Amino acid sequence: MPASALTSPFNILTGAQAADTRPGRESLSGSHKTQSTPSRPEGHAREQQGRFRRDDWQGATHLLPTYLYDESTPRFLTTPKSSAYIKIAEGCDHPCTFCVIPNLRGKFRSRRFESVVAEAQQLVARGVSEITLIGQDTTCYGEDLGIKDGLASLLDALAAIEGLRWLRFLYAYPNRITGRLLSTIARHDNICKYLDVPLQHASPQVLKTMKRGAGADIFLKTLNKIRSAVPGIALRTSFIVGFPGESLRDFEILEEFIGEARFDWLGVFSYSDEEGSGAFSLDAKVPRRTIESRKRRLMKLQQSISKRAKQEWIGRELLLLAEGESDETPLLWEGRTQFHAPEIDGKVYINDFGDLETLEPGRFYNAVVTEAHAYDIVARVVSGPL
Ligand code: SF4
Repeated sequence: MPASALTSPFNILTGAQAADTRPGRESLSGSHKTQSTPSRPEGHAREQQGRFRRDDWQGATHLLPTYLYDESTPRFLTTPKSSAYIKIAEGCDHPCTFCVIPNLRGKFRSRRFESVVAEAQQLVARGVSEITLIGQDTTCYGEDLGIKDGLASLLDALAAIEGLRWLRFLYAYPNRITGRLLSTIARHDNICKYLDVPLQHASPQVLKTMKRGAGADIFLKTLNKIRSAVPGIALRTSFIVGFPGESLRDFEILEEFIGEARFDWLGVFSYSDEEGSGAFSLDAKVPRRTIESRKRRLMKLQQSISKRAKQEWIGRELLLLAEGESDETPLLWEGRTQFHAPEIDGKVYINDFGDLETLEPGRFYNAVVTEAHAYDIVARVVSGPL
């Protein structure tokens, strides 16, 4: 292919070109070198078991994607200018039977440590004060690169960036939350006391069929360990209801677990068949009406748990990131505390600016919580901007 064709942004990669990650080979996006990507042993093993097979997919490329962006890849931020996401890894080696992400995204591969740090430094220099690390499984970060405690080391390095006020990561895998990771969260003032750990279910039987393992007892021990290591931490999780074979007893185990675990934030998703997933061919599908009624039951339970927990926030003084006028009315502003991740958790409404004429979006303020509802709270600014 002529060089001019190779540099055209309108070329569509053939499988071989897309997969060419030999060090020194340039991607078609210009001078950004793609990265050689070693895999984790689990990834190799799961590949042998057919986890990443794509040849049944109509129109899908046979080869798995291997691309990873780096700090020199141009980025257009769609988030407010004070917040940004950084993807630290791509792909996933886990065998969850309800999920087709590994078939789409390929094997787990981490971005280079220095590349993530450089990107964070660039973002903070552009005015970003909050960074959220994402990836299909952030807690595996660095394993394919031979870095021990990769995520904890990465957090240590990022927390040292001057000007970075809030740092958090999403999508922790439950059995990969190490003592070192928790002590890192506890040690740094600018790492949010917040952990998102999707558990998917609590019945050992359902978790076994999901190929995730564990169960309510193990999860409760994990939650105790997290809460003792990081007092006051906010915990988010998500569950799937109506997975094939989920009996009434399985559902009750999940319900009892939610009552005991008392999560700060919780999402419930209805199971739906995904072609290409392991669960697609499972029998004993749960009727749609049962799935929706179980989902409603869990959301009602969580609403009462959350309402009681939020009442305890009244009178607390918290650091607040002001985000701007509320979509609902210009008389209210919206903001977040370290216990609210961007876009997914409840809202903080600000109805009183204290001595200030107005607030500036993207700036931090001290605020006192004056009202609490099931998921949202109302606060009055007492000082700032900070
Ligand atoms: S649910 Fe998450 S951990 Fe499981 S396979 Fe999908 S992306 Fe990986």
